[in-house]
Amino acid sequence: MATGFVCDERYFWWDTRSAGLFMPSHPAIGVEPDAHAEGPATKRRFRNLLELSGMLKQLTPVEPREATVAEVARCHSMEHIERMKALSDDNGGDAGELTPFAPGGYEIALLAAGGVIAAVDAVVAGTVRNAYALVRPPGHHAERDRGRGFCMFANCTIAARHAQAAHGLKRVAVVDWDVHHGNGTQWLTYDDPSVLAISLHQYENFPPDSGYVTENGEGAGKGANVNVPLPAGSGVGAYTAAFERVVIPALRRFRPELIIVASGLDASAYDPLARMMMHSDGFRDICAQILAVADEVCDGRVVVAHEGGYSQVYVAFCGLAVVETMAGVRTIDDPYLAMAAGLGGQDLQPHQDAMIAEAEALVANVPAP
Ligand SMILES: [Zn+2]
Repeated sequence: MATGFVCDERYFWWDTRSAGLFMPSHPAIGVEPDAHAEGPATKRRFRNLLELSGMLKQLTPVEPREATVAEVARCHSMEHIERMKALSDDNGGDAGELTPFAPGGYEIALLAAGGVIAAVDAVVAGTVRNAYALVRPPGHHAERDRGRGFCMFANCTIAARHAQAAHGLKRVAVVDWDVHHGNGTQWLTYDDPSVLAISLHQYENFPPDSGYVTENGEGAGKGANVNVPLPAGSGVGAYTAAFERVVIPALRRFRPELIIVASGLDASAYDPLARMMMHSDGFRDICAQILAVADEVCDGRVVVAHEGGYSQVYVAFCGLAVVETMAGVRTIDDPYLAMAAGLGGQDLQPHQDAMIAEAEALVANVPAP
C-alpha cells in the first residue's frame, strides 16, 4: 500500500525574517542580518530532491487543510491562539521565544498542524499505509501558552489529540528523533497515560535545562514520558542502540494504535544547530525500526511529521532516506554518505552506552494496556 505525502507551497512562505543563525539581528548586539537558520531552503530542497529522484511520483498526495481553532485548543490556551492571530493580522512578531514570524504566519501554522492531521486521517482511514508530512513551521517546542524554538503550534500533539477525539484511538505514541528535546509534546501530555512521548535528543541543547532522563511523567502519566538525552557526538551506533534498547521495547510495551514521528533531521553530522553525527543510512535504520514495530503493534500505522533540520544540503538526503524507507524503494545514492559514515566515533561509545542504559531502565515503567 502507498505512502502518503503532505506538502503545500505555503509552508515555504512561513517567514522567519532575518537573523544571525537564530539570534535576532541588531546593531546593538553586533548581529548582522542574515538568513534565519529555520528558513525555507532546507525543506524546499528536500521536496525538490524527492522530485528529482523520482520519489515524488511514487507517493500519494495528501491534501492539507487548516486545523480548526477547536483542534488547536486541545493543546493550546485560547490566549495563545488569539495572540498569534492578532500578531499575524498586524505585522507579525515573536510567537514566544526565538520564534519570529511575518504577517500571515498564523494561517500557515494552522495549515502545518492541519497537514499532520490530514496525514493521520489518511493513515487511519487506510487510504495510505503511512505518510510523511513535510510541514513548516515545526511544532515540537510549542507549549500550551507560547511558541518556542521556531514553533507556533504543537503539530504532532494536536494530531495525536485529533486521532483520539475524531477516530477514537485510545493509545498514541509520539517518537521524537529531532536533535532537540520535544518539550512541547512532553509537557502537553505529561500527566496523560494515553500518549507515550519518547524524545531522543542531544543532552542539554535546546531548550536549556530540559529533556532529562528523570522527566518521566507524573500522576496517571507516570512512566509514559521517556527521554533519551544522548551525549554530544553521538553517531549512528548510539542512535541504533537507543532505538533497539529503549524506543522499540517501550513501543512494544505500550502498544500504541498509531505512531507519530516528530522527524527533525538536525541530528545529522552537518547540522549547524547541534553536534551529532547521524547520516542518511542512520535515519534509514531508525525509520525501519519504527516501521517494523508498527507492523507488529498497530498495522503499520505511522505518520512522520517534519520538525527541524538546518543543514542547507544534507536535510534533503536524510529526508529522502526516511521517505524511501517508508515507501520501500531506493532511488539515488547519498553522495555525502561515505564522508559522514567515515567520521571517527560513529560506533557506540562507552559513555553513550551508559546513558542509554539509564533510559533502558525506564522501559519497565511504560504503561502497558
Ligand atoms: Zn531541532
